[in-house]
Amino acid sequence: MAILSKYFNIKIIGLLVLASITYSCKNKDGNQAVHPFCASDYCSDEGKEELINLYQNNKTTEKIINFEVNCIVTSEKSPEFFKISEKIKALNQIFFPARIQFQLRPIISHKPVAVNLDEIESKKSARNLVARNLEKKDALNIFIVPHGEYLNGFTYVIQENFLSYFNILECNTTFISDKAWFNESTLAHEIGHFFGLQHTFGKSPYENTTLEKPDGSNCVKEGDFICDTAADPNGKINKKCEYVGLSDAKKYDFNPPVNNFMSYYPNKCKNEFTAGQYASMNAFANKYRKYLSANK
Ligand SMILES: [Zn+2]
Repeated sequence: MAILSKYFNIKIIGLLVLASITYSCKNKDGNQAVHPFCASDYCSDEGKEELINLYQNNKTTEKIINFEVNCIVTSEKSPEFFKISEKIKALNQIFFPARIQFQLRPIISHKPVAVNLDEIESKKSARNLVARNLEKKDALNIFIVPHGEYLNGFTYVIQENFLSYFNILECNTTFISDKAWFNESTLAHEIGHFFGLQHTFGKSPYENTTLEKPDGSNCVKEGDFICDTAADPNGKINKKCEYVGLSDAKKYDFNPPVNNFMSYYPNKCKNEFTAGQYASMNAFANKYRKYLSANK
């Protein structure tokens, strides 16, 4: 993504990424972005082939794969305020069907820095200032950082050649704002990206630009490549989190997964991964993230 490459300019095998930016804007074609969107980069064509291949040949491994979590608080508030072990416990419940579990390391660093999440995402110097000497190579690093105006969280992902993750320390790290920490979905969404999941709508968050057909006939190759997450036009919902359609009232033939963690519907609506997403994360964890696991 241009924003990222401009600031990061890091040429590591794949292009680095990121994730939950909240822009509210129209693209140059005039398509409407109904929901605030994140900037988590969609996989490249090569990455798409890797994922499709992984998902199609996937056999879920029943053995639990464990990841240690190195948590760092750079917000003013103390680690106790964030009830981190409770959050990790809830995360373990969410990820259990993927046979993925997390163990919080007992020492939680508290290093307040007045750099907010938006700044961390947009400037490499800010990111390094916050993360320097605190990221660990052998754990999933979760930073709870001061909130900015736009982002809830972001996770660096690469777009292809996922086997190279083992070599990229920045990609072992997720940043969550001290506000979003308390909602039910931001952390799960970011960890979903960490284990290879794409957004339910696929590449473009603009309304009705998903390439996945409403009847699901091309679900293997478009959207998130997972067939039990219905095609998602990222359309309008009402206050009860019910999909109400598109700006173009003629196109109502979608039944999007508004409660899915990997959608862009509001946090309060989101509370689930599908069986297909769990199987996909299990496969991704065992193939591409095992270097980071306690049982490698
Ligand atoms: Zn995202």
